[in-house]
Amino acid sequence: MTTPLTERELAIARSARGFMPHDEGLALAAAATSADPTLGPFLEVGGYCGKSACYLGPPAARAGTVLYSVDHHRGSEENQPGWEWHEPDLVDSRVGKMDTLPFFRRTIHDAGLEDAVVAVVGPSAAVARHWSTPLSLLFIDGGHGVQPARDDYRLWTPQLAVGGLLVIHDVFPDPADGGRPPYEEIYLPALESGRFSEVSATGSLRVLRRVR
Ligand code: SAH
Ligand code: MG
Repeated sequence: MTTPLTERELAIARSARGFMPHDEGLALAAAATSADPTLGPFLEVGGYCGKSACYLGPPAARAGTVLYSVDHHRGSEENQPGWEWHEPDLVDSRVGKMDTLPFFRRTIHDAGLEDAVVAVVGPSAAVARHWSTPLSLLFIDGGHGVQPARDDYRLWTPQLAVGGLLVIHDVFPDPADGGRPPYEEIYLPALESGRFSEVSATGSLRVLRRVR
């Protein structure tokens, strides 16, 4: 596959900590490269330790735009102690909660992306409610429970400009492969709304275009 990232950017993204398989990250970078930056900036829901931002940030910088990375940095349900996707060193022992923001900032610093990736720290729904800038690319990879996925679909997808790209992570049509909400609460409603058409699928990553 030809890649929109340089060798150095690829190496940084590949080794960054987080939940983004490299082939899906490349598809994410390719989508970002094909987005029309005149429609608006990029925004991701779910920054975690900055891995997906390492795939989205370089195309944003080259397009002269920015990636807003929204996350409360307290972890999703499945990142909490006792759950499958918990990483104990991400807990801030002073407050007894997860805090991925310091890790995110280090990742973005080391990748040289501080001018292109802007952290927005807070609950996705609280940020979305007062957001009004049209987006050229929206990447949804936040909470994977039913309610957070439903909220991200309802509150964020209207912010995408017509012609903009909706990218959804962890879409599993087969329940044996993973959790349902990104598929049932975001991907299917988007297609059924008639506002989106599918552009590509790579692993669990889906790229849709807003058509009206
Ligand atoms: N894109 C990341 C992985 C994201 S993991 C990567 O490439 O590695 C999901 C993230 O969504 C977690 O960091 C969690 O804190 C965040 N999240 C979950 N629910 C959220 C909500 N309601 N508001 C803001 N962030 C949320
Ligand atoms: Mg994910």
